[in-house]
Amino acid sequence: MESRCAIIATVHVVQTVAAAIALARNGAERRILVPTMGALHRGHLELIRIARTAAGKEGEVAVSIFVNPLQFAAGGDFEKYPRPETGDEELCRGAGVDILFRPSADEMYTNDFSVAVEENSLSSTLEGKSRPGHFRGVCTVVAKLFHVLAPDAAVFGEKDFQQLAIIRRMVRDLNFRIEIIGAPTVRETDGLACSSRNQYLSPTERQQAPVLRAALLEAARLAGGGERSAAAIIDAARKIINGSPLARIDYLELVNAETLAPIEALEENSLIAVAAFFGQTRLIDNIRL
Ligand code: AMP
Repeated sequence: MESRCAIIATVHVVQTVAAAIALARNGAERRILVPTMGALHRGHLELIRIARTAAGKEGEVAVSIFVNPLQFAAGGDFEKYPRPETGDEELCRGAGVDILFRPSADEMYTNDFSVAVEENSLSSTLEGKSRPGHFRGVCTVVAKLFHVLAPDAAVFGEKDFQQLAIIRRMVRDLNFRIEIIGAPTVRETDGLACSSRNQYLSPTERQQAPVLRAALLEAARLAGGGERSAAAIIDAARKIINGSPLARIDYLELVNAETLAPIEALEENSLIAVAAFFGQTRLIDNIRL
């Protein structure tokens, strides 16, 4: 009988900064990085798929999994953030990831760590306002990952629209020679944006969470119908969210999609963004108008 030869994909798992820096490219032409905090879901897998395409046949895809303490507030969900190591590794293997960089916090930050990267304009609204210091943590860790893994490009999701904008700004202002690729938000069938935090939701909270998407779609419907008043659009969206007894809005704002500054009347390039709590779980979403 003819023997069949299976190609078993291997993921090179790297846990130290020194090993990651030493990692030769094995002749790979391009390296594309997908930074994550793990607990991988379909959203992450889409980013990896986009990275795979951008890398091409000869290129390699690196995924980082690091729950970055610097971007969590005291009393946030850092401790309980899900860390399904084996499952994540399997998903990476199945998705054709070449390198999985999974450092410990001690590897990334020495005890006397004292330098950080801060963006000071786009970070002042939305998530930045609700979570002081969050983007400082994000920029710092992403800058470190860029230095350690030296990718040619990196993929970030539009679900974290403000983060994507801030990373683009950091790359521009600090002259990183890295292309930033944005990826559209991946959703569950009922419209809820995929998120590692969705697993915190109780069954009733999970049932009500798609109200965020419904509110954003209503905003888009009004905007499409010619409504220009930000207050009117936000009011309509707020009513929909408030229809869910378990939802507690943190912010619901219409902003210019470039500056992320609040606007009073709809412009060419507008974005509506929401953050809301369902119990202890904070979810975010956004849509371009
Ligand atoms: P996280 O692990 O939540 O820090 O996310 C890692 C990357 O995945 C970020 O660039 C996110 O914007 C992106 N991401 C998370 N959820 C989604 C989603 N539902 N659709 C697309 N990208 C996502």
